[in-house]
Amino acid sequence: MSPVRKASRHVNQNEGLIFEKSSPGKRAYRLPPLDVPDVDPDQLLGDAARPDLGAMPEVSEIEIIRHFTRLSTWNYAIDLGMYPLGSCTMKYNPRVNEAVARFEGLANGHPYQPEKISQGALRILQSLRECLLEITGMDAITLQPAAGAHGELTGILLVRAYLEKQGDPRKKILIPDSAHGTNPATAAICGYSVENLKSNARGMVDIPSLVAQVNQDVAALMLTNPNTLGVFEQEIHKIADVLHDKGALLYMDGANMNALVGKVRPGDFGVDVMHLNLHKTFSTPHGGGGPGSGPVACKNILEPFLPVPVVVTKADGTLGFEYNRPHSIGRVRAFYGNFGMHIRALAYILANGPDGLRQTTEDAVLNANYVRKALEGTYELPYKTPTLHEVVFSDKLQARKGVRTGDIAKRLIDYGFHPYTVSFPLVVPGALLIEPTESESREELDLFVEAMKAIAEEAERTPEVVVEAPHSTRVSRLDEVAAARKPVLRWKPAAPGSR
Ligand SMILES: *Cc1c(COP(=O)(O)O)cnc(C)c1O
Repeated sequence: MSPVRKASRHVNQNEGLIFEKSSPGKRAYRLPPLDVPDVDPDQLLGDAARPDLGAMPEVSEIEIIRHFTRLSTWNYAIDLGMYPLGSCTMKYNPRVNEAVARFEGLANGHPYQPEKISQGALRILQSLRECLLEITGMDAITLQPAAGAHGELTGILLVRAYLEKQGDPRKKILIPDSAHGTNPATAAICGYSVENLKSNARGMVDIPSLVAQVNQDVAALMLTNPNTLGVFEQEIHKIADVLHDKGALLYMDGANMNALVGKVRPGDFGVDVMHLNLHKTFSTPHGGGGPGSGPVACKNILEPFLPVPVVVTKADGTLGFEYNRPHSIGRVRAFYGNFGMHIRALAYILANGPDGLRQTTEDAVLNANYVRKALEGTYELPYKTPTLHEVVFSDKLQARKGVRTGDIAKRLIDYGFHPYTVSFPLVVPGALLIEPTESESREELDLFVEAMKAIAEEAERTPEVVVEAPHSTRVSRLDEVAAARKPVLRWKPAAPGSR
């Protein structure tokens, strides 16, 4: 059976169609006759008029619907198939989460609504906090940060506030060479200098290097566990002890919690502060720029510095916000964070329950190891250390024919899959970082493995097919730098000024 999935009939039919659909006089609406004086809109709006918007396209209702529906078919989504983008935990977003987030009282709630009539929303924030504290083994938490990187910023600001209050501000943050790029960016934005920490041959923190590098200047180590190779830091207790003995703190990047939930708790292995990515581990939708949610959990020593406000139980037993916290680092976001994400994460946690969450972790690890076993030999496995929820191969075998990780990823698109993560982590030259998540069935994993094997075969026999991929998309190889630096994100009128 060929793993290639045929693009749908509608997509193919539209292949040659032009993008611009406008023709003069078409309307997608019809308004009742005017029963007020017909005034020139520019005159009515004054300075608020937007002549710069120019002429909008003129299309009929069905044309506009077809336009957007067609655009949606040019994209890829977890709802179409496996999305093995390593480190991003692109799992299924259960529809029950969406149903709950759309309950009228929640969806229409307003952050300025009095506490008295917000008790249900506050209960949700409180329940989610309790669940996340139980899962992480930490003492206190803020739900405010809007992403993982934002959580890192918040967490390191807590570290800085704590050390400054002790009169010992310190200068450096240690970061392993396998870290996500947001870690050094966070440390730098918080005013620290970044010092690189080497991994050992097994892909873990090299303890002798750590011992040599931790001194009175080090504020914290930012560590991802399991790290970006999918390897659990087996000497995590020792790592925490080395830091604590010198008065430094242990920050855990919790983006990879999908490998740990229900099995071990960072609070029990020496972590002082960490963030969670609700949009990864806890199934809230993810990608396209948000909204995300990156709660930060910490030990009691950092609790006084948490962002305001915090949810508290008041003397009369009702829930409310407390703002009077003199040591707080202040707000990190408007209001209380992305509440819709909080609802979805809580729905996911409650729907699974403790056993379901544990099963999820086990399935995620099982799926990654199934792929690892099936592709080992076809692709080079640079680290033989056992891995958890994701696996890193390299393109070493294919590079002999001039086929690199980015080419294999592009070819995967032709086989109907979203690419894995390319060229990350940096410790593996030509990395293929694959994270299937627990959402995939054995059948889908088999299709993926078959596609990866077929591409390896092509790399051997017809490398040009791989190097020139993708062949099935509307555009093939883009200028990726221009796409990132000068993205064209919306339609703009050709001739501005007329309306
Ligand atoms: C995703 C990720 C982040 C950043 O999270 P965002 O929500 O994208 O800001 C940080 N570290 C690791 C290891 C990640 O995988």
